[in-house]
Amino acid sequence: PPILVPDLAARLGLKPFNVMADLIKLGVFPAPNQPLEPEVAAQVCEIHGFTFEREKRDKDKGFHKVEEVIVEPEAPEAEPENLLKERPPIVTIMGHVDHGKTSILDYYRNSKVVSGEAGGITQHIGAYQVSHNDQLITFLDTPGHAIFADMRKRGANITDIAVIVVAANDGIMPQTLEAIKFAQKAQKTIIVAINKCDLPSANVERVKTQLAENGLQTTDYGGDTEFACISALKGDGMDVLLELILLQAEVMELRANPKATARAGVIEARVVPGRGTTATVIVESGTLKIGTPFICGPFAGKVRSLINDLGKNVKVALPGTPVEVIGFEELPHVGDHLTEMKNEREAKALGSERQEELRLKRLKPQHRNRMEDLFTMVNEGGGKNQLKIILKCDVQGSVEAIKKAILAIESEKVDCQFITAAAGPVTESDVAYAASSDAIIMGFNVKVEAKAVKSAKAAGVEIKLYSIVYELIDQVREAMLGLLEPLT
Ligand code: GDP
Repeated sequence: PPILVPDLAARLGLKPFNVMADLIKLGVFPAPNQPLEPEVAAQVCEIHGFTFEREKRDKDKGFHKVEEVIVEPEAPEAEPENLLKERPPIVTIMGHVDHGKTSILDYYRNSKVVSGEAGGITQHIGAYQVSHNDQLITFLDTPGHAIFADMRKRGANITDIAVIVVAANDGIMPQTLEAIKFAQKAQKTIIVAINKCDLPSANVERVKTQLAENGLQTTDYGGDTEFACISALKGDGMDVLLELILLQAEVMELRANPKATARAGVIEARVVPGRGTTATVIVESGTLKIGTPFICGPFAGKVRSLINDLGKNVKVALPGTPVEVIGFEELPHVGDHLTEMKNEREAKALGSERQEELRLKRLKPQHRNRMEDLFTMVNEGGGKNQLKIILKCDVQGSVEAIKKAILAIESEKVDCQFITAAAGPVTESDVAYAASSDAIIMGFNVKVEAKAVKSAKAAGVEIKLYSIVYELIDQVREAMLGLLEPLT
């Protein structure tokens, strides 16, 4: 169905004039009742944190009809209150290098893993859970030196709370500031861990003053930034930090519906020898189960096994839980979302549709080479220009004749090159070639396949069709001599 402004506005929970304002910002001025292009609708959706998707649905008569459906990833539809259950907070530790991020993560990993599990966590899946006073906390455990740009992809959206570590002997350093800015921009709740308080050179008061200077006033200074003085080395204050995290989590009322459609964010993805493609996800809503068919970015999949942070096989993963998923068709991207689908068939269909869209998008930025552009190129001078042609004709005989006639045209300014010259209709792969080699497509007495029309439009590839040989040759000659009028 056509996408109209009032309908789109209603689905986004906005007034039509809000959508009009967005459209004008995007440089689109639709007349009343004029349907929007799907790409434009998608951009409007994006502004408001929605994702715009097309979904194929079987219609009564057995043919496929493309429908426009809006799915909402950032804020799942309001769940009925009674279905919402508390979920563990998801925490990221950030801070300047050597201030103790790894030490904090190691300390909790070794001492506070879910009770009853001996030996601690030996397997790194990118996140792990600890239990404190019977409450769970999920820590993102980004290996190595997390770059902030990477962090953004990895977990910023999933993260609820950012713990900013500052070494008490060192004070605020450049990366501390970066971390603070980053967390503030992403609107994460910040808790400050003043680390290395065991050192004689520790100066907690100085750290607090520096924090205040940078907009984080600690609670004891009358502000609202919670902080803990800790020693990741000795373990001092480590429980206090967990309690602060749980307290904040309570204030934030972190809840999710375990019965909703499963949705999870990918925080790591890798190929493990013997296991194949795996990814660690953190479940955001619903419950991930073995056998769940899903879509993740452009790839379909089905949960074959789930491995928790202790390396154990589990059957289900609830909201807030990190789990390694086996069953991806291809390596997903960190930051992508895994969404449960009704069945494998639908997952596969949506997967191929998204892959197709990606493919077309990759073709898009290619320079549009039109014959008319040669006019400008030729008349602007410079070196010799290239006219690249993909020629498709009804029969081999015309291929030879036309090719010969075109190669016979002499031009000082333009060289002509045939990328392809063959009999047959204009296909999608001709378009792909044209886009990648910056060629134009010329067809003589041939049809253009429906898929090729679509991708040519998307990629900005010109297809010229002729049924009279001399017209075709004349047009090439004019172009090569720089005589063709530019299109305006
Ligand atoms: P990261 O770069 O932020 O991950 O920092 P690390 O956790 O690797 O810690 C850097 C150095 O500081 C290591 O040598 C740690 O042993 C040391 N360190 C971490 N926490 C403490 C602490 O609470 N007290 C002391 N004295 N040293 C610490």
